[in-house]
Amino acid sequence: MARWDKLGGIGNIEDRRGAGAVLGGGVTVVGVIIALALNYFGINVDPALVDRVINTTQSNQQESGEFAGEDPYEQFVSRVLGSTDEYWQQELQSQGVSYPKPRLVLFRGATQSQCGMATLQVGPHYCPPDQTIYLDERFFDVLISELDAQGGETAQAYVIAHEVGHHVQQVNGTMARVMNDPGYRQTGENSLSVRLELQADCYAGLWAYAVNEQGIFEPGDIDQAIDAAEKVGDDYIQSQTGQSVNPETWTHGSSAERKAAFQKGFSSGSYEQCRL
Ligand SMILES: [Zn+2]
Repeated sequence: MARWDKLGGIGNIEDRRGAGAVLGGGVTVVGVIIALALNYFGINVDPALVDRVINTTQSNQQESGEFAGEDPYEQFVSRVLGSTDEYWQQELQSQGVSYPKPRLVLFRGATQSQCGMATLQVGPHYCPPDQTIYLDERFFDVLISELDAQGGETAQAYVIAHEVGHHVQQVNGTMARVMNDPGYRQTGENSLSVRLELQADCYAGLWAYAVNEQGIFEPGDIDQAIDAAEKVGDDYIQSQTGQSVNPETWTHGSSAERKAAFQKGFSSGSYEQCRL
C-alpha cells in the first residue's frame, strides 16, 4: 500500500457529497439526458457501464449527511491533489509559468459546474472555465466491476493526476492552442483529442515519478496505475462493451498508447518528454 500519509500537501477540495446532490441518493439518473454544454475533459467512460453499476449498487448508496466532516477518502484525495499542486508549482515555475491550484469537487450523482451538469455518467473530468476537477468516486467501482481493473488507491491517484494534467494544459496554454485548431473536433487515433489525452497521461506519469522519489510507492503500487491507464483505452472499452474496435472513433487513445504515455512520464520524470 502506498504511503500517502508521507505526503504533506493539502489540496483544495470541496466536498459536496453530503450537500444534497442534485440527483442520486436513490434517485435514478438512468434515462436523464444531461449534456455538458462546454468542453470538458474526462478520463473515458461509457455511460451504459455506469448505469449498470448504479443499478446494482443503488441500495448501498450513502444517504446525504454521511460526509459532514472529513473522511479518510477526502483526506486521501486531498493529499494526492496537494502533492500534484506541489509538483506542478515547482515544475512550471522552472518554465516561468505560475500555477494556480485547481479545485476538486467530490460529489454524488450529479452537481452543477460551469461546464453544465457534472454527473457520474460523465466520469471524472476537468472543467476549464472553473478550473475544477469533478469526481464521484463510484467511477472506480465501474473500473473494477465493468472493466476488470485492479483498482486500488494508486489507480485512483492516477485518475486524479490525469485530470490535473488537463489543468496543466489549461495553465501552460496547450489547451487553448489545441482547441483553436480547426482539426480539434475530429476523432481518430492521430487526432488532437487523443494527443491531448495522452499528454495528460504522460503528465500523470511525471507526478508519479516525483512521488516515487519521495518513497511513497511500494512494489506493485504503480502497476495499479498502469493497469487503470490500460483499462480506459478506447480499444479496450470498445471491445469490452461489445463494439467493434474502430480507431477512427477514438478520443483518448488505445490501451497500449495510454500505458506507454504514462510510462514515458514515469520513467523519465522529464516535462520535455511529454511534449504534444
Ligand atoms: Zn482526459
